Amino acid sequence: MQAVGAIPKKKEVAIIDHPKPVLSSDNEVIVKSIDVGICGTDREICTFVYGDPPKDSDYLVLGHECLGIVQEVGSAVENFLPGDLVVPSVRRPCTHNHCAPCKDDMQDFCSTGDFVERGIKMRHGYMTEYWAEEEKYLNYVPVNLKDVAVLVEPLTIVEKAMAQVWPTQCRLPWAKDKDAKGRPNGKGLNAVVLGAGPVGILGAMKLKTEGFNTFVYSRSKAPNPKAELVESFGVPYISAQETSLEELAERVGNIDLVYEAVGVSSISYKVLSILGLNGIYVFTGIPAPKPAIEVDADLIMRNLVLKNQVVIGTVNADQGAFISAIKDLGVFMERWPEALKRIITSRFGAQDSRSLLLDKATGIKNVISFDH
Ligand SMILES: [Zn+2]
Ligand SMILES: [Zn+2]
Repeated sequence: MQAVGAIPKKKEVAIIDHPKPVLSSDNEVIVKSIDVGICGTDREICTFVYGDPPKDSDYLVLGHECLGIVQEVGSAVENFLPGDLVVPSVRRPCTHNHCAPCKDDMQDFCSTGDFVERGIKMRHGYMTEYWAEEEKYLNYVPVNLKDVAVLVEPLTIVEKAMAQVWPTQCRLPWAKDKDAKGRPNGKGLNAVVLGAGPVGILGAMKLKTEGFNTFVYSRSKAPNPKAELVESFGVPYISAQETSLEELAERVGNIDLVYEAVGVSSISYKVLSILGLNGIYVFTGIPAPKPAIEVDADLIMRNLVLKNQVVIGTVNADQGAFISAIKDLGVFMERWPEALKRIITSRFGAQDSRSLLLDKATGIKNVISFDH
């Protein structure tokens, strides 16, 4: 069957004839891919800076952002039936007994580095017609989210981020407004999202849903399609080309939270220098290695201390983040269905994958569709 693979030895990206999976244990599920999203990680794997095939393969099947439909279930599978829509997670635990996070199903915090990731590190991904997975790594998706559920995985990034932010900001008990269920929210707090790609746009939707007074700060001048999309759900878009850092700080007020989704260190560290009192800054981008940049380290260090700031990094994502993402996608679908659908620029067949992976990036989120 067809798969889109990266072949490191040949430095090639190709459509590969990949064996169709069969059930190899009772708790496995065979899934047919419907939509597979393409992101910067896939594009970087195709430049061969990272990404490793499984030990017994010359190629790595790409794809880690996937919506699929269950085809066949093993005899011990309890929670899925053929026809169910599912989104798989990406990271799988290492096999070391002493790795407490992996033993606790929190392999996103793996302490040995020997985790594997589907479509990225030593396990084939989902950019193929069929794949097999253990039931515990699949998440059920309601049918009404079929058109947008390929966005679940990029949404898990902000879900995991907020799962770190709230416990950390409980250090500020007076600033915490709780809902009827005792969950904190962002009412009265200001958040800046850096970047207007899919991760930034989904992050802005999440932060607005959580009650933050939310802004998106991104490079391109407005008007542009991303700015229009962001403003269509009520979040102001501020262009870094038109608005200085000082003007940004003045417009936003005390910046309580920065959600970095741009992957560019220069702009990210500049915005760190204007983080507000008691603020928290979340890094999610993974910049490729480049020559060192100059930052005002004294200012940043002074602010971190004198303003009680916190900086955290986060890589996704545990199952809790996937479950929250599917729930929030339902909320976004109710509030902003048109904006949510517009994050997906176009769907293409597998034959178009090479140009999407290798040529200049266009649009917001492009998707390879296997749903013929
Ligand atoms: Zn991705
Ligand atoms: Zn581990």
